[in-house]
Amino acid sequence: MIDLDYDKQHIWHPYTSMDEPLPVYPVTRADGVRLTLENGTELIDGMASWWSAIHGYNHPDLNQAVTDQLSSMSHVMFGGITHAPAVELARKLVDSTPQDLQKVFFSDSGSVAVEVAIKMALQYWINTGVKGKHKLLTIRYGYHGDTFAAMSVCDPVTGMHDIFSGILPHHFFAEAPQCRFNESCSADDIADMQSLLEQHHESIAAVILEPIVQGAGRMFFYSADYLSAIRNLCDEFNVLLIADEIATGFGRSGKLFACEHAGICPDILCLGKALTGGYMTLAATLCTGKVSEGISRDKGVFMHGPTFMANPLACSTALASITLLEQENWQGKVTTIEKLLNTELAACRDSASVADVRVLGAIGVVEMKEAVNMAAAQAFFVENGVWIRPFGKLVYIMPPYIIEPEDLRLLIEAIIKFTKWVANS
Ligand SMILES: *Cc1c(COP(=O)(O)O)cnc(C)c1O
Repeated sequence: MIDLDYDKQHIWHPYTSMDEPLPVYPVTRADGVRLTLENGTELIDGMASWWSAIHGYNHPDLNQAVTDQLSSMSHVMFGGITHAPAVELARKLVDSTPQDLQKVFFSDSGSVAVEVAIKMALQYWINTGVKGKHKLLTIRYGYHGDTFAAMSVCDPVTGMHDIFSGILPHHFFAEAPQCRFNESCSADDIADMQSLLEQHHESIAAVILEPIVQGAGRMFFYSADYLSAIRNLCDEFNVLLIADEIATGFGRSGKLFACEHAGICPDILCLGKALTGGYMTLAATLCTGKVSEGISRDKGVFMHGPTFMANPLACSTALASITLLEQENWQGKVTTIEKLLNTELAACRDSASVADVRVLGAIGVVEMKEAVNMAAAQAFFVENGVWIRPFGKLVYIMPPYIIEPEDLRLLIEAIIKFTKWVANS
């Protein structure tokens, strides 16, 4: 038996208190789209373990990649050494991301990939002799991770880090876009971003944002026009653009990378979450030749090098995961999920508890009128045979791409039932 009492006494879970820990569910297996609880209950997974398990759990190809790599070399330092998993994964990433992104920095987690991206932007300006560019500009409702530089560009209110507001460096926050995906975007939508750039571009190193899909801070899908406009403004005001595709990368939004919706290329791109198909922790920060050349000019070196950089097990698994994506018509699967979400999740709109329903790619979001009681919601969903973890007012799913329509329907039905339950309680 998993010692839940020991867990409660000694282990932190994400965003929890040690005094009043929220209940946790003991999981003993995960196969395909199902999590098995210790008591034998099977739950259909709507979360893909926070966007990452895109191929489902216990996948034979990914298992094979891990065991093959394990038998030759599980880890080796990356200082002064290289290996095939790193080289082949870098090739895959360079080939599949927008064309100008040519250089790859591997790290351990999404937050670190964001730290690396910010450091690249700062070092670029320092090493090219442009003084005073050490601020960042972002949009409201963003989420970029939990380490300090990443926290400083999370939304000051919804970004989960407001208690640090007096301590974190101050960056610039522009109004978030209101123009939705597939809508056009007006001059009003970009006015705040534009005026901040006009006033402060001399102190701004980079704009950082989540392209198209604002994730943990808002679960909102904005217009590709807005993203194109930001790219143009960055060029006009000589500011780098960092695209944080840690959540959107590898197909989730219906394109392999969300930047493709606008046909833009950022100067720096962050990847994580689904990179290894949810098997292991690995992240990557890519940049253009212009950025790497600026950092490296006059014997400049990039000042970062994590212990587990380019871990071979993680790189091999990532390579196998991307190969699977290419072989398995991910786009067809994501489109099927999107269609079903579009037609069936819409029923939630009839519930008095619901403010909005949004769908893009393999992401379905129901925004409630009031914040949800997470522990109660969690218990409700487990009773209904699904794993869905709401956050604030947002009840959302981003299931593994391999989910079959009948399982997806069970997720959708559970959400509809939940919105009625909230409306009647
Ligand atoms: C999850 C996430 C991060 C942070 O990644 P971790 O692996 O949790 O550190 C950063 N940016 C975005 C957009 C994310 O969704």
